[in-house]
Amino acid sequence: MEHINTTIDENLLNDSPVYWDEDTLHQKWKDFLECSISHAELTIPVKRFQLQIESSTDYLETMRCWSKMNGSARLNAWKRLLEAYESIVQEVLPVCVQCGECCRKGSPTLHIEDLELLQVGKIPWQQLVTLRADEPVYSPFDEKPFLLPSECIKIREEPGSNQCVFLDDQTTQCKIYNDRPVQCRAQACWDPAPARQVSKLPYLTRRDIFGEVELLIEIIAEHDQRCSFEKLSEIFTHMTESEGRAVDKVLELLAYENHFRHFFAERLNIPEDTLDLVFGRSFAELAPLFGFRVVTEPDGSRCLISDAP
Ligand code: SF4
Repeated sequence: MEHINTTIDENLLNDSPVYWDEDTLHQKWKDFLECSISHAELTIPVKRFQLQIESSTDYLETMRCWSKMNGSARLNAWKRLLEAYESIVQEVLPVCVQCGECCRKGSPTLHIEDLELLQVGKIPWQQLVTLRADEPVYSPFDEKPFLLPSECIKIREEPGSNQCVFLDDQTTQCKIYNDRPVQCRAQACWDPAPARQVSKLPYLTRRDIFGEVELLIEIIAEHDQRCSFEKLSEIFTHMTESEGRAVDKVLELLAYENHFRHFFAERLNIPEDTLDLVFGRSFAELAPLFGFRVVTEPDGSRCLISDAP
Protein backbone atom coordinates (compact mmCIF):
# COMPACT_ATOMS: atom_id res chain seq x y z
CA MET A 1 0.00 0.00 0.00
CA GLU A 2 1.29 3.43 -0.96
CA HIS A 3 2.47 5.46 2.01
CA ILE A 4 0.80 8.86 2.28
CA ASN A 5 2.83 11.58 3.91
CA THR A 6 0.54 13.45 6.26
CA THR A 7 3.10 15.92 7.62
CA ILE A 8 2.41 19.52 6.62
CA ASP A 9 5.23 21.79 5.51
CA GLU A 10 5.56 24.33 8.35
CA ASN A 11 6.75 27.04 5.92
CA LEU A 12 3.65 26.67 3.80
CA LEU A 13 1.40 26.75 6.81
CA ASN A 14 2.99 29.92 8.12
CA ASP A 15 2.95 31.71 4.80
CA SER A 16 -0.50 33.14 5.37
CA PRO A 17 -1.30 36.61 6.70
CA VAL A 18 -3.00 34.89 9.63
CA TYR A 19 0.41 33.91 11.04
CA TRP A 20 2.49 36.97 10.16
CA ASP A 21 3.84 39.16 12.91
CA GLU A 22 4.35 42.89 12.24
CA ASP A 23 7.90 42.51 10.92
CA THR A 24 6.80 39.79 8.51
CA LEU A 25 3.88 41.93 7.38
CA HIS A 26 6.26 44.80 6.53
CA GLN A 27 8.62 42.47 4.72
CA LYS A 28 5.79 40.80 2.76
CA TRP A 29 4.42 44.20 1.73
CA LYS A 30 7.86 45.30 0.56
CA ASP A 31 8.38 42.07 -1.39
CA PHE A 32 4.93 42.35 -2.93
CA LEU A 33 5.52 45.93 -4.11
CA GLU A 34 8.93 45.15 -5.57
CA CYS A 35 7.68 42.08 -7.37
CA SER A 36 4.41 43.58 -8.67
CA ILE A 37 5.89 46.84 -9.81
CA SER A 38 8.84 45.22 -11.55
CA HIS A 39 6.39 43.11 -13.56
CA ALA A 40 4.06 45.96 -14.40
CA GLU A 41 6.44 47.85 -16.80
CA LEU A 42 5.28 51.15 -15.35
CA THR A 43 6.67 54.43 -16.59
CA ILE A 44 5.63 56.13 -13.36
CA PRO A 45 8.19 55.85 -10.52
CA VAL A 46 7.71 52.97 -8.08
CA LYS A 47 8.12 55.32 -5.12
CA ARG A 48 5.15 57.29 -6.38
CA PHE A 49 2.82 54.29 -5.96
CA GLN A 50 4.36 53.28 -2.71
CA LEU A 51 3.92 56.72 -1.14
CA GLN A 52 0.34 57.02 -2.38
CA ILE A 53 -0.69 53.62 -0.96
CA GLU A 54 1.26 54.04 2.26
CA SER A 55 -0.44 57.31 3.08
CA SER A 56 -3.92 55.75 2.68
CA THR A 57 -6.12 55.10 5.73
CA ASP A 58 -6.30 51.39 4.85
CA TYR A 59 -2.55 51.00 4.97
CA LEU A 60 -2.04 53.05 8.14
CA GLU A 61 -4.86 51.24 9.99
CA THR A 62 -3.61 47.83 8.91
CA MET A 63 -0.08 48.54 10.12
CA ARG A 64 -1.33 50.10 13.37
CA CYS A 65 -3.81 47.38 14.35
CA TRP A 66 -2.16 44.25 12.89
CA SER A 67 -1.01 42.76 16.18
CA LYS A 68 -4.53 43.08 17.64
CA MET A 69 -6.37 41.56 14.64
CA ASN A 70 -7.68 38.00 14.59
CA GLY A 71 -7.07 35.68 11.65
CA SER A 72 -9.98 36.67 9.43
CA ALA A 73 -9.46 40.41 10.10
CA ARG A 74 -5.85 39.99 8.96
CA LEU A 75 -6.90 38.18 5.80
CA ASN A 76 -9.37 40.97 4.99
CA ALA A 77 -6.87 43.73 5.75
CA TRP A 78 -4.22 42.12 3.53
CA LYS A 79 -6.79 41.72 0.75
CA ARG A 80 -7.73 45.41 1.03
CA LEU A 81 -4.06 46.40 0.65
CA LEU A 82 -3.74 44.32 -2.52
CA GLU A 83 -6.94 45.86 -3.89
CA ALA A 84 -5.68 49.36 -3.03
CA TYR A 85 -2.54 48.61 -5.03
CA GLU A 86 -4.59 47.37 -7.99
CA SER A 87 -6.82 50.45 -8.09
CA ILE A 88 -3.89 52.87 -7.73
CA VAL A 89 -2.03 51.22 -10.59
CA GLN A 90 -5.17 51.40 -12.73
CA GLU A 91 -5.83 55.04 -11.96
CA VAL A 92 -2.99 57.20 -10.66
CA LEU A 93 -4.26 60.28 -8.82
CA PRO A 94 -3.35 63.39 -10.82
CA VAL A 95 -1.56 64.92 -7.87
CA CYS A 96 2.06 65.19 -6.76
CA VAL A 97 2.69 63.15 -3.62
CA GLN A 98 6.30 64.43 -3.33
CA CYS A 99 7.86 61.01 -3.69
CA GLY A 100 11.05 62.75 -4.85
CA GLU A 101 11.66 60.59 -7.92
CA CYS A 102 11.50 63.44 -10.48
CA CYS A 103 13.92 65.45 -8.33
CA ARG A 104 16.38 62.54 -8.30
CA LYS A 105 16.46 62.43 -12.10
CA GLY A 106 17.72 66.00 -12.43
CA SER A 107 17.42 69.59 -11.23
CA PRO A 108 15.24 72.09 -13.08
CA THR A 109 16.35 74.49 -15.79
CA LEU A 110 15.14 78.00 -15.02
CA HIS A 111 12.85 80.14 -17.14
CA ILE A 112 12.41 83.91 -17.18
CA GLU A 113 9.34 83.47 -14.94
CA ASP A 114 11.72 82.22 -12.21
CA LEU A 115 13.80 85.40 -12.09
CA GLU A 116 11.71 86.88 -9.29
CA LEU A 117 12.39 83.85 -7.08
CA LEU A 118 16.10 84.64 -7.42
CA GLN A 119 15.71 88.36 -6.90
CA VAL A 120 13.79 87.97 -3.64
CA GLY A 121 16.21 85.34 -2.36
CA LYS A 122 13.86 82.34 -2.43
CA ILE A 123 16.49 80.51 -4.48
CA PRO A 124 20.03 81.56 -3.45
CA TRP A 125 22.47 82.55 -6.22
CA GLN A 126 25.02 80.05 -4.87
CA GLN A 127 22.70 77.18 -5.78
CA LEU A 128 22.75 78.02 -9.49
CA VAL A 129 25.04 76.91 -12.28
CA THR A 130 25.25 78.06 -15.89
CA LEU A 131 25.55 75.44 -18.61
CA ARG A 132 27.11 77.14 -21.61
CA ALA A 133 26.44 76.67 -25.31
CA ASP A 134 27.80 73.41 -26.77
CA GLU A 135 28.00 71.64 -23.39
CA PRO A 136 26.65 68.08 -23.57
CA VAL A 137 23.48 67.52 -21.51
CA TYR A 138 20.73 64.92 -21.17
CA SER A 139 17.20 65.59 -22.36
CA PRO A 140 14.76 65.03 -19.48
CA PHE A 141 12.13 63.92 -22.00
CA ASP A 142 13.85 61.16 -23.94
CA GLU A 143 16.94 60.85 -21.70
CA LYS A 144 19.26 61.18 -24.70
CA PRO A 145 22.41 63.30 -24.77
CA PHE A 146 22.57 66.44 -26.94
CA LEU A 147 24.72 69.59 -27.23
CA LEU A 148 23.13 72.68 -25.76
CA PRO A 149 22.34 75.11 -28.58
CA SER A 150 22.49 78.07 -26.19
CA GLU A 151 23.19 78.63 -22.52
CA CYS A 152 20.79 77.84 -19.70
CA ILE A 153 20.80 78.17 -15.94
CA LYS A 154 20.04 75.26 -13.66
CA ILE A 155 19.73 74.58 -9.96
CA ARG A 156 22.79 72.66 -8.79
CA GLU A 157 22.80 68.89 -8.46
CA GLU A 158 24.39 66.85 -5.70
CA PRO A 159 28.00 65.96 -6.61
CA GLY A 160 28.21 62.64 -8.43
CA SER A 161 24.46 62.38 -9.04
CA ASN A 162 21.62 64.08 -10.89
CA GLN A 163 19.69 64.80 -7.70
CA CYS A 164 18.54 68.38 -7.16
CA VAL A 165 20.20 70.00 -4.13
CA PHE A 166 16.83 71.06 -2.77
CA LEU A 167 15.55 67.51 -2.35
CA ASP A 168 15.54 66.50 1.31
CA ASP A 169 16.71 62.89 1.27
CA GLN A 170 15.16 62.04 4.61
CA THR A 171 11.64 63.25 3.88
CA THR A 172 11.83 63.01 0.03
CA GLN A 173 10.30 66.49 -0.02
CA CYS A 174 11.42 69.66 -1.75
CA LYS A 175 12.94 72.22 0.62
CA ILE A 176 11.56 75.07 -1.47
CA TYR A 177 8.28 73.44 -2.51
CA ASN A 178 6.16 76.61 -2.25
CA ASP A 179 8.76 78.58 -4.18
CA ARG A 180 9.90 75.94 -6.66
CA PRO A 181 10.66 76.93 -10.25
CA VAL A 182 8.10 76.81 -13.03
CA GLN A 183 9.54 73.60 -14.50
CA CYS A 184 9.00 71.78 -11.20
CA ARG A 185 5.45 73.11 -10.96
CA ALA A 186 4.68 71.67 -14.39
CA GLN A 187 6.40 68.34 -13.71
CA ALA A 188 3.80 65.57 -13.41
CA CYS A 189 4.89 61.92 -13.50
CA TRP A 190 1.39 60.88 -14.59
CA ASP A 191 1.29 63.31 -17.53
CA PRO A 192 4.34 64.68 -19.42
CA ALA A 193 2.30 67.26 -21.38
CA PRO A 194 2.54 70.25 -18.96
CA ALA A 195 6.35 69.91 -18.69
CA ARG A 196 6.65 69.80 -22.48
CA GLN A 197 4.57 72.96 -22.73
CA VAL A 198 6.72 74.76 -20.15
CA SER A 199 9.90 73.72 -21.97
CA LYS A 200 8.79 75.99 -24.84
CA LEU A 201 8.93 79.09 -22.60
CA PRO A 202 12.07 81.23 -22.91
CA TYR A 203 14.96 80.08 -20.72
CA LEU A 204 16.64 82.35 -18.22
CA THR A 205 20.12 83.55 -19.27
CA ARG A 206 22.93 85.47 -17.58
CA ARG A 207 21.94 88.55 -19.56
CA ASP A 208 18.50 88.46 -17.86
CA ILE A 209 20.21 88.38 -14.48
CA PHE A 210 23.22 90.65 -14.94
CA GLY A 211 22.02 92.76 -17.90
CA GLU A 212 22.25 96.01 -15.96
CA VAL A 213 25.96 95.50 -15.24
CA GLU A 214 27.28 96.08 -18.75
CA LEU A 215 30.93 95.52 -17.75
CA LEU A 216 30.13 92.08 -16.36
CA ILE A 217 28.22 91.15 -19.50
CA GLU A 218 31.27 92.11 -21.58
CA ILE A 219 33.58 90.04 -19.40
CA ILE A 220 31.24 87.04 -19.61
CA ALA A 221 31.20 87.38 -23.41
CA GLU A 222 35.01 87.54 -23.43
CA HIS A 223 35.23 84.40 -21.26
CA ASP A 224 32.76 82.61 -23.55
CA GLN A 225 34.87 83.47 -26.56
CA ARG A 226 38.32 82.72 -25.14
CA CYS A 227 37.29 79.72 -23.08
CA SER A 228 34.49 78.16 -25.08
CA PHE A 229 33.44 74.58 -24.55
CA GLU A 230 34.22 74.00 -28.23
CA LYS A 231 37.85 75.00 -27.60
CA LEU A 232 38.09 72.65 -24.63
CA SER A 233 36.61 69.83 -26.66
CA GLU A 234 39.03 70.42 -29.57
CA ILE A 235 42.11 70.45 -27.39
CA PHE A 236 41.15 67.27 -25.53
CA THR A 237 40.47 65.54 -28.86
CA HIS A 238 43.85 66.70 -30.15
CA MET A 239 45.56 65.38 -27.02
CA THR A 240 43.90 61.97 -27.38
CA GLU A 241 44.79 61.77 -31.07
CA SER A 242 48.40 62.75 -30.39
CA GLU A 243 48.57 60.01 -27.71
CA GLY A 244 49.07 62.49 -24.90
CA ARG A 245 51.76 64.64 -26.52
CA ALA A 246 49.56 67.77 -26.35
CA VAL A 247 48.91 67.41 -22.62
CA ASP A 248 50.76 70.69 -21.92
CA LYS A 249 48.33 72.54 -24.20
CA VAL A 250 45.37 71.17 -22.26
CA LEU A 251 46.91 72.13 -18.91
CA GLU A 252 47.70 75.58 -20.30
CA LEU A 253 44.08 76.13 -21.33
CA LEU A 254 42.80 74.86 -17.96
CA ALA A 255 45.17 77.22 -16.15
CA TYR A 256 44.17 80.14 -18.36
CA GLU A 257 40.45 79.56 -17.74
CA ASN A 258 41.06 79.23 -14.00
CA HIS A 259 43.09 82.45 -13.98
CA PHE A 260 40.46 84.33 -15.99
CA ARG A 261 37.57 83.53 -13.63
CA HIS A 262 39.52 84.28 -10.45
CA PHE A 263 41.18 87.43 -11.79
CA PHE A 264 37.81 89.03 -12.61
CA ALA A 265 36.12 87.64 -9.51
CA GLU A 266 38.68 89.49 -7.42
CA ARG A 267 38.45 92.69 -9.48
CA LEU A 268 34.63 92.79 -9.44
CA ASN A 269 34.12 91.36 -5.96
CA ILE A 270 32.24 88.31 -7.21
CA PRO A 271 31.79 85.75 -4.39
CA GLU A 272 33.63 82.49 -5.07
CA ASP A 273 30.48 80.39 -4.60
CA THR A 274 28.68 82.20 -7.43
CA LEU A 275 31.43 81.74 -10.04
CA ASP A 276 29.65 78.73 -11.57
CA LEU A 277 26.69 80.96 -12.27
CA VAL A 278 28.76 83.86 -13.66
CA PHE A 279 31.23 81.87 -15.79
CA GLY A 280 29.68 78.41 -15.95
CA ARG A 281 31.40 75.27 -14.72
CA SER A 282 35.19 75.50 -14.68
CA PHE A 283 37.22 73.63 -17.27
CA ALA A 284 38.70 71.53 -14.46
CA GLU A 285 35.18 70.45 -13.50
CA LEU A 286 34.34 69.61 -17.11
CA ALA A 287 37.46 67.46 -17.68
CA PRO A 288 35.66 64.23 -16.60
CA LEU A 289 33.43 64.62 -19.67
CA PHE A 290 36.58 63.76 -21.65
CA GLY A 291 37.62 60.93 -19.34
CA PHE A 292 40.13 62.88 -17.20
CA ARG A 293 40.41 64.33 -13.71
CA VAL A 294 42.45 67.38 -12.80
CA VAL A 295 44.56 66.85 -9.68
CA THR A 296 46.36 69.65 -7.87
CA GLU A 297 49.77 68.61 -6.53
CA PRO A 298 51.09 69.78 -3.11
CA ASP A 299 53.27 72.40 -4.87
CA GLY A 300 50.15 73.91 -6.53
CA SER A 301 50.86 72.51 -10.01
CA ARG A 302 48.14 70.57 -11.78
CA CYS A 303 48.18 67.30 -13.66
CA LEU A 304 45.69 65.23 -15.61
CA ILE A 305 44.74 61.72 -14.54
CA SER A 306 43.00 59.46 -17.02
CA ASP A 307 39.83 57.79 -15.73
CA ALA A 308 40.17 55.03 -18.33
CA PRO A 309 40.60 51.57 -16.73
S1 SF4 B 1 13.42 72.46 -6.80
FE1 SF4 B 1 12.25 71.10 -5.49
S2 SF4 B 1 10.67 70.22 -6.81
FE2 SF4 B 1 12.23 71.11 -8.13
S3 SF4 B 1 13.62 69.40 -8.61
FE3 SF4 B 1 14.44 70.50 -6.82
S4 SF4 B 1 13.66 69.37 -5.05
FE4 SF4 B 1 12.40 68.82 -6.82
